[in-house]
Amino acid sequence: MTELVVASNNKGKIAEIAQIIEGLSLLSLQDVGFTDDIPEPFHSFEENAHTKADTVYRFCNKNVMADDSGICANALGGAPGIDSAHYSGSRDDMANLNALLKALEGSEDRSGYYKAVICLIWNDETYFFEGICKGTIIETPRGNGGFGYDPIFIPDGYDKTFAELEPHIKNTISHRGIATRKMVSFIKEKLEG
Ligand code: IMP
Repeated sequence: MTELVVASNNKGKIAEIAQIIEGLSLLSLQDVGFTDDIPEPFHSFEENAHTKADTVYRFCNKNVMADDSGICANALGGAPGIDSAHYSGSRDDMANLNALLKALEGSEDRSGYYKAVICLIWNDETYFFEGICKGTIIETPRGNGGFGYDPIFIPDGYDKTFAELEPHIKNTISHRGIATRKMVSFIKEKLEG
């Protein structure tokens, strides 16, 4: 079976991707023996995803995908964006969520979106796939599912937060789901063509 390295150690992320991808053998960083930290000092989701994919590709020389994602509030000019994972100064999900609520205090515009960018290095060529999920950032957290900012994010067209929605529904409409399905269609075409 064709192998694809997912440049992540986040088991939740890999499981989400595995649900969408059939006919590919997914390998984690652990599976290929990559243990270094990859810094993300760049200014865009694209650059961060590319650096992760490229670093791992150079290490193991296998087809590899890496993603970078975050939540963007329109009233904050797109922040936290690429800083989503450490917006509060630490990598604590609850502290980050609270930091976003504080930054939006008093703001009438609660619109925002999640964004994910996948960088795929496939047979030595580099490709990008993007997914966006628009919604509203509410003032009071609701629900226990998901992770990160999910308890304060209601996707457009729904009345529940990502933390209240069933995981398969989140997967269908989420930024990561959209970007992943774009990548999967592309790989299928390559494999069949
Ligand atoms: P990274 O893509 O692993 O760098 O993580 C990006 C950060 O964005 C995560 O740590 C979360 O804070 C946030 N984030 C990205 N996708 C989601 C999501 O689907 N739900 C909640 N938070 C997310």
